[in-house]
Amino acid sequence: MSLKANLQEFPGLSHQAFQHPLDRQAMIALEKVPLLPQGVSFVSSAFFERLLHIEHISDNTRVTAQQYPSLYRQYLKLAAVLDVKRLPDLYIDTTPTVNAYATGIQNYFIVLNSGLIDILTEDELLAILGHELGHVKCEHMLYTTLAQFLRDYGVDILNQFVPVGLGALAGQGLQLALMEWYRKAEFSCDRAALIATQNVESICSALAKLAGYAKNLDGALNLEEIMRQANDYQEIGAESKVEKVLKLYVLLNKTHPYPVVRVKEIRQWSESTEYAQILAGNYKQLVAQATRPSGMQPLATPTGVKCTNPKCGRVWSPGTGFCGKCSTNLRNAPTVCGNCFVVVKASWANCVACGNALNGNLIANQIRG
Ligand SMILES: [Zn+2]
Ligand SMILES: [Zn+2]
Ligand SMILES: [Zn+2]
Repeated sequence: MSLKANLQEFPGLSHQAFQHPLDRQAMIALEKVPLLPQGVSFVSSAFFERLLHIEHISDNTRVTAQQYPSLYRQYLKLAAVLDVKRLPDLYIDTTPTVNAYATGIQNYFIVLNSGLIDILTEDELLAILGHELGHVKCEHMLYTTLAQFLRDYGVDILNQFVPVGLGALAGQGLQLALMEWYRKAEFSCDRAALIATQNVESICSALAKLAGYAKNLDGALNLEEIMRQANDYQEIGAESKVEKVLKLYVLLNKTHPYPVVRVKEIRQWSESTEYAQILAGNYKQLVAQATRPSGMQPLATPTGVKCTNPKCGRVWSPGTGFCGKCSTNLRNAPTVCGNCFVVVKASWANCVACGNALNGNLIANQIRG
């Protein structure tokens, strides 16, 4: 088994077409947390990116047209279906830990652990790849990389940035807010996996295997049983306060929500009109082409500022004080992509509309301001 031959593609797909509402809400909350800009500038440093890169290129096998070509071909296909603008490098790491992740700041890469590959069917593996491409598609990378970093190295690293008055708990607060968002972002990426593979069963069975699986046990996993388990979980805390607190406590340090809950979520969404509309070709698209008026050249800088006068809307390089066309003060002008002129969000390392790399420091400055 492998990807369907007639897999449908979604040119120009915007991640807003499938983003889970909990992800959207948690992202808004996260962007108000003190220390986030400092954390973002820290992981955005060229040093950190090189460290990540060297670690993987020296230690893992890169999947290419010559190395595991069948997997590579299907990886290209998944990226094309989701319309991922810049293809991340794909690596395989020999380690028994059952895991896969996407990481990186300007140059992304996806890592599949051999321990995960060994327990999955090919279809389930493609579902996981679709999920990881979802993180890239949704421009989660800046925040997920920061979350992974704080989890692996501790929040103490941020102490040198704590502004007077914020106290030592600020780092902890940032970590909790990041984890809270990260768990919810997972739901969006499961939806990306569904759009990419159009195969809900393999996503569910991959998730069920993440929850609990051993090769030597007889019989396939029973998805109906997993659904019953998810219902039981949601009932915990419905009555008792103690159980609610316990449920929360168990979740606090996890980047991923419980697999059984994810199974339930993605199954429901696979039957939703939202998903049916996407399959029918009615989905929210990127606005790149419409945004940069024809005849206008891209800027020489990664980002620019857009004149707020609705009759003008000219784009200038960052730091420009007044619009050269209509003299509007550009102090409150939104930051836009220097290539396609889409308004950029603080969390983007790359423009989601055109893939243009937006300089990390510029973005961090924008959050601060
Ligand atoms: Zn994920
Ligand atoms: Zn103007
Ligand atoms: Zn752009």
